[in-house]
Parts: sequence; structure tokens; C-alpha cells
Amino acid sequence: MSPLSRPKQTCLPLRVFCLLLLIVLILLLLASGGLIIHQARQIVGQGSHSYGQYKAEEVFLERSKRAHDQVWQLIASRKAQSDPEAWDKSIRQLKSLAMENQKLAPHIEPLLESLAVLKPIRLTQADLIKKLSQENPQNRAALIQNYEELEQQAEEHLKPLSHHTDDLLFGPDETHELSEQIKANVITAQFLENCVLLCLFGTLIYLALCLALGLKHVIRPLEAIRRYVGHLGTGVQLPSMPQSRVKVIAEICETLENLGLYLGQATVRSEKIASERSQFKRMSLYDGLTGLYNRRAFDDMLEKLWQSSGQQATPLGVIMMDVDKFKVYNDSLGHQAGDTCLREVGKAIAKAVRGNDVAARYGGEEFVVILPNTDSTQAMAAAERIRQSVESVKLPHPGSPTGPYVTISLGVTSEMIEGSGKASDLVQHADDALYFSKENGRNRATLFDGSQKSEEH
Ligand code: GH3
Ligand code: MG
Ligand code: MG
Repeated sequence: MSPLSRPKQTCLPLRVFCLLLLIVLILLLLASGGLIIHQARQIVGQGSHSYGQYKAEEVFLERSKRAHDQVWQLIASRKAQSDPEAWDKSIRQLKSLAMENQKLAPHIEPLLESLAVLKPIRLTQADLIKKLSQENPQNRAALIQNYEELEQQAEEHLKPLSHHTDDLLFGPDETHELSEQIKANVITAQFLENCVLLCLFGTLIYLALCLALGLKHVIRPLEAIRRYVGHLGTGVQLPSMPQSRVKVIAEICETLENLGLYLGQATVRSEKIASERSQFKRMSLYDGLTGLYNRRAFDDMLEKLWQSSGQQATPLGVIMMDVDKFKVYNDSLGHQAGDTCLREVGKAIAKAVRGNDVAARYGGEEFVVILPNTDSTQAMAAAERIRQSVESVKLPHPGSPTGPYVTISLGVTSEMIEGSGKASDLVQHADDALYFSKENGRNRATLFDGSQKSEEH
């Protein structure tokens, strides 16, 4: 692993991650909201129940107040005091109140006792008043005394009576306070529930908005950036960058677009440089007219093959070639035709050699072939093949002494490389043999055998 590469991790896609996050948030929100609403509802439920109880108490209070008023009406009115029915009605009412409301019972008991004592006193007094008008003065005095004695007794029982009747009004004070408290709690709980519902609803809308905006301005741009970066430097047409309102993302997009632009220009430049370089390389190695190796490449390759043949102890062959009477060709057909002729000769030579042979244009109308691991016989066979190949092209050559078509003369050598010699010796020997071919009528190949020395030319 290269030091720059990171171990590959399994990652969630961005959209899935955001969706999961949102779901978790909504669940948390619903759970907490649900809990609060549940508690609020419990408070409302309990409060309502207590409030119902309080309402029942209120009814008792109302009845208690009525009983209180009735008792005082009975005590204050002479007419009522003399009516046994009125006494019984009040007593019945108080008894039923005491039975129905345990809280009131302790307050009603002494009241009933007082009324039970007062009832016969008041009724007797009423009788006495009736009798007073009919009786003689002696008896009247006795009756009045009797009345006053009864009045004193009644006074004694009337004193605590006001205290007992007040209890009817103010006994269950706590009921009222409790009801007020419950009322306040119920209202608070209902308010809380409504607030929570509102918050939940608002938060859900807010989250949905966040998701929509996040999708548009964050997630989509990020995915586009990933696509864009994936295409950077590949030479493929870059996808368009989306607009984002999030500052940092917009800046990244802008920077990447600039980078894409720069890389695009750099790619074009580097492609141009690469093509120019390969063109230069081609120009430095190949001959522009024939497409064969040029003299410089030939010299390099000959040196290398000379070295390797010496190391491997294999024979190395060289064939030098020269177009016959090419000056005449040029003179009669023109220089342009001469160029075309050289191109055709080059093709014919390339066609006739093996894959690992090196064919090159030596200069002017001279060509050369290097034949690795080739002995004299094989080299001569190759030379003959080349000669025939050129002749078979049948390029008309008016004024040629060797026939109607363009021909070449060849000088061949094949030698075992020894430490004392040098690569250029092979060329010299082949050239010597070529000279011999020219001398002996052209359109032929001559093997160098040591007798055709350059000094002889
Ligand atoms: P020989 O059979 O003895 O070789 O006779 P020759 O006429 O071929 O010999 P010479 O060396 O006198 O002539 C070579 C001619 O080749 C001279 C020159 O004008 C011509 N030549 C050399 N290079 C080019 C080239 O690139 N294009 C053309 N068209 N002619 C060239
Ligand atoms: Mg020549
Ligand atoms: Mg020539």
C-alpha cells in the first residue's frame, strides 16, 4: 500500500446517513413529547376528577348555606317559631345534610341539639302568648313570668347557635382552596400540553425544512463535487457544478471549477508536449523521406549490435546499397520523381528484411541494413532478396545501363566481432564490396572477402 493511500472503509451514503439522523431526531422528539403529553394528560385527568369532587362539595355548600338561612329565618321570625312544621323541616334538612356530608356532620350535631331544645321552648312560648290575651290579670302575671323564664332558657341556647350556624358556612374552607388549586393545575397542564403539541408540530416542520434545504444546498452539491472530483484530470468532459448558498460549499465549488479549468488547460498542454516530443523523437530516429531509420539511429544501433554480437560470439552482417545511376534518373525525370523513387526503394528494402534486421537510409541514394546473427551465406541471400525486391517494383529508369527499371548495387559483409576492430569497419567493408558491384556492372551483390580494399578504389 502506498503511504498516501488510506485503508478502504465501509461508509454510509450521505443521504442515508442524513435520513437516519433525521429519523433518530424525530423518534427522540416524539418520545420526549409523548412523555410530556402523557404527564400533562394525567394531570388534566386527575385534576378533572378532583374538580368533579369539588363541584359536588359546592352543591353541599350551597345546601348548607340554604340550611343556615333557614335556621336563622326560623330563629328570627316569630311566625316560623310557632310553626312546628317549620321546626321539623329545618331539623330534617340539617339531618340529611349531616348524613350526606361527613365534613359537615360535626358542625351540625350541636346545632341539632340546640334546635331540639329551642323547639319546645319556642312552641311553649307561642302557646303562652296565645293564652295571655284570654287569661285574667293574676294568671297573666304568672304566664308572663313563665314566658320570661323560657326566654332566658332560649337565650342560653341561642348564644352558641350563631357560632354553630356560621360553621355551616365556613366549615369546609379547604374545599374551596383545593378547588382553586386544582383549577390552576388543570389550566397549566392543558397549556403545557398545547405548548408541547405546538413545539412538536413546529419542530417537525422545521426538521422537514432543514432536510429539504440541506438536500438542495448541501447534499446535492456535495455529491456533485464528488462526481466532479472523480472526473478531474481524466480528460473527460467535466460535469457542471451546482449552485449552493452555503458559503463554504460555494467556495469549494468555485475552487474546484478553477482547478478543473486549470487541469483542462494543463492536460491540453501536456498532450501537445507529448505529441511534440514523440514527433521530435521520431524525427531524431527516422528518415523523413523514406520512414526508415536515419543515419544517427543506424550508427547507435550498429554500435549496440556490434557490442552484443561480440559478447554472444555471433556473426554480424551489414549490407550497403546504392541506387544505380540515380543522377541520371534525377536528371531525366526530375528531383521530385527522384524523391518518390527513393521512397519506393526504401519500402522495397523494408519489405525484404526480417523483423530484427535494421534497415536505414545511410544518406543520399544509399541505404544500409544490419543483420544480427547472420553469416555470409545468409547475408548474401538477404542481399539478393533485397535486390530482387527493388527490381520487382519496376520503377522505369530511362537511361539505365542495367535495364528499363531502377536497380541497386549491394555490398555485403558478415563478420565475427573481435576485440581489436570497430563497428565502422563493417560499414567500410560492405562499402568496399559495393564499390566492387558497381565496378562489375551494377544491379548485383558482392560479398566482402578482404580483397576489395578501399585503397583499391
Ligand atoms: P552510380 O550508379 O555510380 O551510383 O551513379 P549515380 O548517378 O547514382 O551516382 P552519384 O553519386 O553521382 O549520384 C547520386 C545522385 O543522387 C546525386 C544526387 O543528386 C542524387 N541524390 C542524392 N540524395 C537525393 C535525394 O534525397 N533526392 C533526390 N531526388 N536525389 C538525391
Ligand atoms: Mg551514391
Ligand atoms: Mg548511385
